[in-house]
Amino acid sequence: MALYTTDLLILGSGPAGYTAGIYAVRAGIDTMIVSGNQEGGQLTMTSSIENFPGFEEISGYELMDKMKQQAVKLGVKCVNDHIVEVDFSNRPFVCSSQNGHSYKAKAVIVATGSSARWLGLPSEEKFLGYGVSCCATCDGFFYRGRTVVIVGGGNSAVCEALYLATLANKVILVHRRHQLRADKILQDRLFNNQKIVVEWDSVVEEVLGEEELSKKVTGIKIRNVETDEIKTLDADGVFIAVGHQPNTDIFKGNLVLDAKGYVVTNGDGATTDVEGVFAAGDVKNPKYKQAVISAGSGAMAAMDAIEFLETNR
Ligand code: FAD
Ligand code: NAP
Repeated sequence: MALYTTDLLILGSGPAGYTAGIYAVRAGIDTMIVSGNQEGGQLTMTSSIENFPGFEEISGYELMDKMKQQAVKLGVKCVNDHIVEVDFSNRPFVCSSQNGHSYKAKAVIVATGSSARWLGLPSEEKFLGYGVSCCATCDGFFYRGRTVVIVGGGNSAVCEALYLATLANKVILVHRRHQLRADKILQDRLFNNQKIVVEWDSVVEEVLGEEELSKKVTGIKIRNVETDEIKTLDADGVFIAVGHQPNTDIFKGNLVLDAKGYVVTNGDGATTDVEGVFAAGDVKNPKYKQAVISAGSGAMAAMDAIEFLETNR
């Protein structure tokens, strides 16, 4: 059990965390990043990124490794650990980890990201990255002219279905009820799109695929919850859009969170209700969940933290 002290502690090693580290250390701030259990963040789940400026195509793992190397080269200390408890009631702030270590810091940037909600099926996990995705913006391109399924009935599912319809030949939206949660204007667009069909009152029982020659999705098995009828649908990709959840459980009672659990920041900046604690990336952003936006948000949080540390030396 060790006690680490640093001027700035960054929780999370996604694009927000590493970018914040790069900005802070270049301002001469003693900076430490605690990686969390998913070193590199959500992007490590995707094999190909084509929308991060500067890289025509790069794997998520490689992009995040490059960010880490850049941060380390500049002097950021990166620790593989996961925070399980925080105490923001007094400065220096104290964060305790699953390995039994304590981290004391004059300022903290929360960059713990968000996690897509999944259906929880073993077959879904098996084909994640091989036809199962939670990001149409990222992976839709690979389904040009193909058939894709999207699961969910909220704004995300409908937006993603409309986006996928610009690429795919056929989009099947599977929703567990007979009414969409999405905004009416989006629903109208969905119902007017000839490429999109809806399977109402249906839940996914299994993602079907093959593993012999090349691992890939071949379809889904759905069950109508009204009739119990089972149907098998052919599909090349399955997009899950059943909501996201911010990784903020440990901040309950320490920071003001909104009704959905996102960290609330003040105005356009990264400051939270606790002076000296800042937030960046998906953890504070329920709408624009993209790597480049998280990176920019990390830079903003670092700039706010630098200003705070300079006036509170
Ligand atoms: P995250 O990437 O979620 O990182 C959060 C970090 O916090 C992780 O390192 C985690 O280990 C850490 N953490 C969590 N809890 C704790 C804790 N208690 N203690 C310490 N650390 C903790 N966006 C694009 O722009 N282009 C794409 O092509 C693209 N593809 C995607 C593909 C998939 C499959 C997914 C799921 C998302 C994709 N996205 C893409 C979205 C993008 O990944 C996110 O917007 C971005 O990663 C958010 O960055 P972040 O740093 O805010 O959080
Ligand atoms: P959401 O609004 O919470 O919708 C999630 C959808 O997934 C719901 O239709 C829900 O069904 C369904 N669902 C949840 N768990 C499921 C499960 N286990 N199995 C099957 N279906 C399940 O989430 P979201 O669509 O990701 O949107 C998140 C927030 O971002 C919302 O506030 C949304 O308005 C906003 N957003 C806005 C826009 C926009 O304005 N253009 C675009 C995207 C997102 P039920 O309906 O039955 O509960």
